[in-house]
Amino acid sequence: MKIKRIAHLGIAVKDLDPAKKLYGENLCLELGGEEVVETQKVKVSFFKVGESNLELLLPTAPDSPVAKFLETRGEGFHHLALEVEDIDAAVAELKAAGVKLIDETPREGAHHTRVAFIHPKATFGLLVELVQYPTSH
Ligand code: ZN
Repeated sequence: MKIKRIAHLGIAVKDLDPAKKLYGENLCLELGGEEVVETQKVKVSFFKVGESNLELLLPTAPDSPVAKFLETRGEGFHHLALEVEDIDAAVAELKAAGVKLIDETPREGAHHTRVAFIHPKATFGLLVELVQYPTSH
């Protein structure tokens, strides 16, 4: 597979406003947009950092995976997203290699992307998201 860049770092927060103030005002990052991702039950605010982004993740429901993360781990670093050229091929390759995946089939992510998560047990404790953008991004 070909990994093109770190697409974003996901940060779980309990409240978006103070986090947006820090990254937007204090660290002077440009707010790239905001979106509710229904499939993940999160509201995402993303800030551009060069070719990459920081994504603030706020759960929108108590059964959101991010809500569960906040309960057990608290606020902070949640996942690393790597942009791949072809997510179907990447997932097939990992499955063939016996790498434990959360998503055996890519699903819809934020910004019209397709995503698949690798299980943290397979990545030495890090939640890794593979993401494919609809166009060359
Ligand atoms: Zn993500």
